[in-house]
Amino acid sequence: MSVLDIFSRLTQQADLMDAMMKKLGVADEMWKLPDHAGVLRRAANRCLMCDRPDACEHWLANEANPDEAPGFCRNHDLFERVLENMENEAQPVT
Ligand code: SF4
Repeated sequence: MSVLDIFSRLTQQADLMDAMMKKLGVADEMWKLPDHAGVLRRAANRCLMCDRPDACEHWLANEANPDEAPGFCRNHDLFERVLENMENEAQPVT
C-alpha cells in the first residue's frame, strides 16, 4: 500500500464517519461530550479499522432517516449512547 493509498483510506473513512454522524443527527452532540476530543479520536480509530466501508457507503446512500447506526458499524454503541443522551435531554422535566 502506497502512502497515497493510506491517505486516501484515511480521507474516505473520515468522510464516512462524518456522514454517519450527520445522518444520525449526532454530530453537534458529539462535540458537547466531556472529553469530546478523546471520544472523537477513539471513534475515528475504530472507523479506520472498519472493514465495511463499502457497506457503510451503501447504507448511508439508502437510509433516509435512520433511528440507529447499522449493526456492523464499529461505532454503533457510541452513537447509540449519544442518541439516548439526546432523547433523555429532550424529555420534558415533570
Ligand atoms: S460503518 Fe464503518 S466506516 Fe461507516 S461509520 Fe461505522 S465504523 Fe465508520
